[in-house]
Amino acid sequence: MASCGGLDNKHPTPHPGTENKEKSTGQASVSGFDDISKQLQQRRDEHLYRSRRVVGSRQGRLLRVNNKELVSFCSNDYLGLAGDERIAAALSEAAQFWGVGSGASHLVCGHTDAHHQLEEELAAFTGRSRALLFSSGYTANLGVINGLTGAGDFVFEDKLNHASLLDGGMLSRATLQRFRHKDYQHLADLLDKAANSEARKLLITDGVFSMDGDRCETAILADLARQHRAWLMVDDAHGIGVLGATGTGSVDPALYNEDDVQILMGTLGKAFGTQGAFVAGSDDLIETLIQEARTFIYTTAMPAAIAAATSASLAIVREETWRREHLNDLIAQFRDGAEAQGLELLPSVTPVQPLLLGDEELALKVAEILELSGFMITAIRPPTVPRGTARLRMTLTAQHTGDDVTALLAALERALNEAGA
Ligand SMILES: *Cc1c(COP(=O)(O)O)cnc(C)c1O
Repeated sequence: MASCGGLDNKHPTPHPGTENKEKSTGQASVSGFDDISKQLQQRRDEHLYRSRRVVGSRQGRLLRVNNKELVSFCSNDYLGLAGDERIAAALSEAAQFWGVGSGASHLVCGHTDAHHQLEEELAAFTGRSRALLFSSGYTANLGVINGLTGAGDFVFEDKLNHASLLDGGMLSRATLQRFRHKDYQHLADLLDKAANSEARKLLITDGVFSMDGDRCETAILADLARQHRAWLMVDDAHGIGVLGATGTGSVDPALYNEDDVQILMGTLGKAFGTQGAFVAGSDDLIETLIQEARTFIYTTAMPAAIAAATSASLAIVREETWRREHLNDLIAQFRDGAEAQGLELLPSVTPVQPLLLGDEELALKVAEILELSGFMITAIRPPTVPRGTARLRMTLTAQHTGDDVTALLAALERALNEAGA
C-alpha cells in the first residue's frame, strides 16, 4: 500500500528504457530521462497531477485566486495570524534594525539576539530547558533523527507520520520500523522484538496527524518509551498554538516534562503564522543537536526579523485565548452540521477536518465544484495519503465565522450531489 508521504510511490510506474541503454560505446543513445514526459502524462491520466495555484492576496479568510475571491478552507493558518498586522509590523521594524539576510549559519555568525531570545521564549512556553531554531519543520525533522540515530539504532514511526519524519528515518541508516496508525499494540510488539538491543530506540509520532486531524495518545507512547528505555519524539506541527488552553499543544508541559517526551518539535509556519521550526528538550539534547544535526549546522540561519516577528506572534498565541475558543466552537459547529447531513468525517477534534472520498477523480471534481461556489479546498491524493483514501482536507481557522461554516456545509452538500458522490 502507498503511504503518507509517498515512500512507496515516487513514480507511477518503474522507468521503462533503463534496460535498453547502449553498451560500451561511451555514448548512450537512450537517456534514462527520455520517459519523463510520458510519466507526467500518466500522472495526469491517473488524476494525480499536482499543480500550484497563484494567490494574489495575503493569507486570511479570503484568498484572491484568478481574480476571484474565495473563502479559504485549506490553509494551516489555524489562528489566523499569517496576515496579522501586528506581526507584519514587528517584521518590518526588525528588518529595519537587522536587515534581511542573516549572513551565515547559526554556528558561524548568523545567530542573533533575536534568535536567542525566541529560543528562550519557546523553551519557557513548552516547559523545556532549551529550544533550538531550524529554518523549516522539514529540515528540523531530518536533522534531529539523523543527529541522534545511525546504523544499528532503531527508529519506530507511525505509518501516517509526516513525510519529513519518514524521510528522516530512512536517511538515518537506523532500522526503520513503521507501526500501523495508532496501533500501539503493534508498536509494543516491535519494541519487544528489539528488547535485547542496547542500541538507541527512538519512537516518533505526529501530535496531530496532518492529513487526518486525529491526535496521538501521548500518555500511552510516553509509557511505552519509558518501559523500553526509548526516547519519544512528538512532531506537533498542527497542535502547537492550537490545542490546550494556552496553546501548548499535544504535549501539555504540566503533564509531560522533558523526561516523558524527550523531543518536542513544533513548526512556526502554521498556527504561529511565520516561518521555521524549533526543537525543545533538555540541555544535553540541544547541545547534541548543535554538534550533530546537519540541517542545523550546514544552512543559513533564518532571518533575524523572522525570529523577532515570531516572538510577537508567540505573545499573541499565548494571550489571545479567544482564538482557540472560537476555533473550537467552529469545529463543533462543523462536525454537528456534517453529522446532521449524514457526512462521514474522520474522527478529528482538531481544525483539520477531512472528508474521505476515496477516488482521486471524485475528490478533484468536488473540489472544483466547491471552487465555482466560492470555496478554496484542496483535494489531497496519493502519494500524500494512501491509495484509495483521496479526500477533501478542510481546515478551520480563527478567522472564519459561524456563517462561513454554515455556507461551507450547504456548499458541500450541493457539490457532493452534483459530483454524484
Ligand atoms: C508541515 C509539517 C512539517 C514541515 O514543516 P515546515 O515548516 O512546513 O517545513 C513537519 N511535520 C508535520 C507533521 C507537518 O505538518
